[in-house]
Amino acid sequence: MSAKRKQGFYQPIALEDFPRGGRHQLELPIYENSLGHPTYCPFVVVRGAHPGPVLGICAATHGDELNGINIIHRVLASVRPDQLHGTLLCCPVVNVPAFEAGQRRFPVDEKDLNTCFPGKSTGTPSDQYARAFVERFLKSVEYLIDIHTASEGRLNSMYVRADWHSPAARDMALLLQPEIILHGKSGDRTLRSAARALDVPAVTLEAGNPSVFQRQMAEDGERGIQRVMAALGMIRDQEPPAHTRTPVICHDSQWLRTTQGGILDLNLELCQKIEKGQEVATLRNAFGDTTGTYKSPAEGIVIGMAHTPLAFPGTRYCHLGRIGEPTAPKQPVSGRLNHRLIGQEGEG
Ligand SMILES: [Zn+2]
Repeated sequence: MSAKRKQGFYQPIALEDFPRGGRHQLELPIYENSLGHPTYCPFVVVRGAHPGPVLGICAATHGDELNGINIIHRVLASVRPDQLHGTLLCCPVVNVPAFEAGQRRFPVDEKDLNTCFPGKSTGTPSDQYARAFVERFLKSVEYLIDIHTASEGRLNSMYVRADWHSPAARDMALLLQPEIILHGKSGDRTLRSAARALDVPAVTLEAGNPSVFQRQMAEDGERGIQRVMAALGMIRDQEPPAHTRTPVICHDSQWLRTTQGGILDLNLELCQKIEKGQEVATLRNAFGDTTGTYKSPAEGIVIGMAHTPLAFPGTRYCHLGRIGEPTAPKQPVSGRLNHRLIGQEGEG
C-alpha cells in the first residue's frame, strides 16, 4: 500500500469542514482487500446548526451485532440538524469486513477487533484496521456510545458497561436506562479503553442478541440516546423521553461454566435475581438421564445466558451480575471523564 494512501486511512474526519445545520453521509477508505481495493467504512455526520459537543455512536465492531445499526438508524431519523446543538458522528458498521462476511471476528486474521484497540499501524491486520478506525472516528468525538450485543449462542439483557467512577460515563449509563449497569473500567484494548485514554467518556451498550433486529431493543436504545443527547444540551427543543425503569447496578460479574458435556436445560431468565445455592441448570445425556445439576455459587442477577442447549466442559451458560455499587476508587478521575451530565445544563 502506498504511504500516501495509508496516510489517508489515518485522516480524522474534519467535522468543522462540514456546513452547520446539515447531514452528510460519507464512505471513507479504512483498509484494503487482497486486490488492493479500498474497504470503505460508512460514517454519518450530523452537524447541528448550533455549537455543542460531539457525540460518537458506533455499532457492529463485531460484524454480527446488528441491533446497534437499527438504533443508529432510528436516532438519525429523529435528529433535526437545524435544531441540533453540537455534532453527531455515527458509524453504523465499524467492522466492515466482518459484517460483509456475516461473522463476529475480523475475517483476515480471525481476531476479535474489540481486543485490538487502539491498534497499530505496523501490527496485525486487525491492529491496522483498529488503528485506522481510531484515527478516523474516535479522535473526532468527545463522548462515545459503542453498541454491542451478545455473541453467537448467547442472549443478553439490555445492559451497559461503564466505569461507575467516571461521573460522565455513569451519567450516560443511567440516562440510557438499561435493565442493568455493569461497572468496569474496561478491559485493555477495547474501543472503550482507547476512548478513555483520549479522555472521551464512553459506555458500551449491550443491546440484546446477535444477528437479529429486536424492536424493543431498538426503541429503548433510541430513547436512551435521546436522553443522553438532551443531557449534553444537544436537543433542547423537546422533552427527553421519560424514565421508565431503574437499572440494577452491578459492581462485578462472572460467567458460570459447565464442567461436563451434555444437553443443558437452563432454569433461568434474563434479569432474574437468583440466590446463592439456587439450582440454575440441569445437564442430561442423549437418553434424558440427569447427568449433572448446577447451582449458583453466589446471589446475583442474570445479565446474559446461553441460547443453545449444547454444552461442552467449559461452556458459558450464565453471566451473573453481582448486585451493588462498587467501592470508591483510590484516585478520582479527571478531565472530561469527571463531567456531570445529570443535574447540569448542557454547554454551548
Ligand atoms: Zn460486541
